[in-house]
Amino acid sequence: MFDPIAIVRKNIKELIPYSSARDDFQGTASVYLDANENPYATKVNRYPDPLQQKLKVVISKLKHVTPEQIFLGNGSDEAIDLLYRAFCEPAADNVVSIKPTYGMYKVCADINNISYREVLLKKGFTLDVEGLLSSVDESTKLLFLCSPNNPTGNSFDSKDILQILDSFKGIVVVDEAYIDFSEQKSFLTQLNKYPNLVVLQTLSKAWGMAGIRLGMAFASKEIINILNSIKYPYNVNSLTQKKALKKLKFKSIIVRQQVQELIDERNKLAAQLKKLGFVEKVYASDANFLLVEMKEAEKVYLSLMDNKIIVRDRSKVALCEGCLRITIGTSVENLRLLRNMKCLNEAM
Ligand SMILES: *Cc1c(COP(=O)(O)O)cnc(C)c1O
Repeated sequence: MFDPIAIVRKNIKELIPYSSARDDFQGTASVYLDANENPYATKVNRYPDPLQQKLKVVISKLKHVTPEQIFLGNGSDEAIDLLYRAFCEPAADNVVSIKPTYGMYKVCADINNISYREVLLKKGFTLDVEGLLSSVDESTKLLFLCSPNNPTGNSFDSKDILQILDSFKGIVVVDEAYIDFSEQKSFLTQLNKYPNLVVLQTLSKAWGMAGIRLGMAFASKEIINILNSIKYPYNVNSLTQKKALKKLKFKSIIVRQQVQELIDERNKLAAQLKKLGFVEKVYASDANFLLVEMKEAEKVYLSLMDNKIIVRDRSKVALCEGCLRITIGTSVENLRLLRNMKCLNEAM
């Protein structure tokens, strides 16, 4: 049976976490004279709940997990960084990931001085399960999978992910930043079966709250306890907690409608882009962006920018040569992009 304590770094295992007087007192007190706050009410004069308990209750109902299986952070990037800091010994341990994928896994590895092993995706952007498992050794602590994957846009075969969960003896991180746009089921349903699984989600994409910075990690309560013990005590500020609570409680139907509209827009835009002569391929997408291969991608990227339309140039990324990554906007924005692309098509 996988036990995260067995692979946590020694200094973290021995850590005495920061504690405040409010950790000793549960409930609502009438006089708070413990934290040197200014007592005059401004709505934000008090420190926020360090464990974001109200928010976790709402999320636990939406996601069908227990509050103890939830870690909340300053974006999912915080959870990624904390996983390194908890489990990877600098200059000794390594992590395995796929290529191409989300850039932060490598940046966090470099910051934490952890060697980062990349395994190229196979044809059709599928997982090279054998390649991933043969890159693992006894110092491999984390294995990152991003599904739907950024920037390729596809989801991976759940059988492949399950095989990795069954075979790898460290922690498998499944980043589901785009899961709300996907046809695939979330791996949250596997949490109780796999104690080595961490699922990442975020309010930055489908939920429309990139500005408040709220990321979620779901895992066994043992893994969540470790992350909680090393995070900054007040890592999610009170404005973020309040705003997220309102949105998750009262706006989930609106968000679901927006997601459906974005999926429809994505499919329309894909069909239109395929008609342009200089577009060579529009990859199937399970997310809110399209990976589009074209002639002279860099030139197109710069011309769009001249017209104040910003897309992401992925043309130098392995397996994405000649590709731009285009986020789905409103129908008006997508039309404007399309008009610009049509002009370029005629000029080329
Ligand atoms: C956008 C994105 C995130 C979100 O990061 P936040 O820090 O929560 O905004 C995480 N993973 C992937 C793959 C992403 O594309």
